[in-house]
Amino acid sequence: MIRSLQQSLQRWYARNARDLPWRRRVTPYRVWVSEIMLQQTRVEAVRQKYVAFMRRFPTLRALAQAPLEHVLEAWSGLGYYRRARMLHAAAREIAARHRGRFPRSHAQLLALPGVGRYTAGAIMSIAFDQPCPIVDGNIVRVYARLHRTAKPANKDVWAFAQQWADSAAAPAIMNQAIMELGAIVCTPVTPRCDICPVRKHCKAGRHGDAREFPAPAPRGEKRSVRYLLLVLRDAKGRVLLRKRPQGDKGSLLPGGLWELPHAEWPQGAPTPEIPADNLRLTGKAVQVTHSIMDCNVTLHVQPATGGAAGRWFTMQQAQAAAISSATRKALLTGYPG
Ligand code: SF4
Repeated sequence: MIRSLQQSLQRWYARNARDLPWRRRVTPYRVWVSEIMLQQTRVEAVRQKYVAFMRRFPTLRALAQAPLEHVLEAWSGLGYYRRARMLHAAAREIAARHRGRFPRSHAQLLALPGVGRYTAGAIMSIAFDQPCPIVDGNIVRVYARLHRTAKPANKDVWAFAQQWADSAAAPAIMNQAIMELGAIVCTPVTPRCDICPVRKHCKAGRHGDAREFPAPAPRGEKRSVRYLLLVLRDAKGRVLLRKRPQGDKGSLLPGGLWELPHAEWPQGAPTPEIPADNLRLTGKAVQVTHSIMDCNVTLHVQPATGGAAGRWFTMQQAQAAAISSATRKALLTGYPG
C-alpha cells in the first residue's frame, strides 16, 4: 500500500508544492536554517525573515563568524530566540570541530546544539536524500487519519516514518511531500479530503470523519502572570530600551534581548512595584495579552517619565532590534505612535 500511496503523492507534490525560498536552492546549511526557523512558527512568518537572514549570513562561515548580537537582530520577529542562540552555537561548533564542513551523518547532526531527531532527519533526507525518518505534527496527523487512530503511539508513527523513507525512491521528495500534504490539504481543522491525492488509501478520509483524528491532546492549565512595562520617551519621541544580560533568568522575558523597563506584578498585589525609585507613571496604561508556552501573560504598558538606564531607540530601530515578541506586541499595541 505504501508504494502506491507514494506514487499518488509524488505526482501531486510535483504539481502542488509551494514555491518556498529554501526550496529554490537546496544546501545543508539552507535546509538547516529553514528547519530551525519553522519550529513553532508559521511558514508565512518565516518566508521573508529567511530571505533576509540568508542575505545577511549567506554561508555557515558567515554565521559562525558573526557576533551573537547580529544573529539575534536578524532573528527579530520570529520569537523563541533560544533557537537563534543554538543555531549560532552550532555554526561555531561546526567551524571548530568539523573544519566548517557541514556534518553528513545523523549522529553528528544530533550532537549539535538545537538539533533533535526531527531536524536531523529533515537535514539528512532533504539535503542529502538519505532515507531518514521525520515525525512532526503534520506527519502524526496524516498517520492518524490514514489509519483512523485516535491516539497514535509515538513509536508506531516513527516506525511508519522509517518505512516511508525506506520505501521512497527519493526520500528528499517523499518526506517533503507528506509534510506538504499535512500543511496544505490534511490540515487540522478543515482537511480537504475532496481533493486529497491519497484519499483512496485513507481510512478516515473514506469514513468522512477525518477531523476526529487524532484525538486532541488534553490541555494543561496555563498559569497567569502580570507585568508592568514602562514606556519612557525622550523629546525626539524615541523609546527607552534596556538590555537584559545573557542568561538572566530573573524575568519571563528572555535574556540577551532589548526590553522595556518592567517588573512583575504579582497576582493579588493591588498595585505594581515601580522598577526604579525615580520613575513616575504618567497617562493611562494599555493592557496587552500574550501567551508564552505554559503562561498567559498580561502586560500593563504604562507611559512613564524619569531617569532610567538604557538606550534610546526610534520605533523603527526598536522594531528591528533583538526584542521578544512580547516586547514587540507591547510597543505596537500599547504605544503605536
Ligand atoms: S483523505 Fe482526508 S484525512 Fe485522509 S489524508 Fe487526505 S485529507 Fe487527510
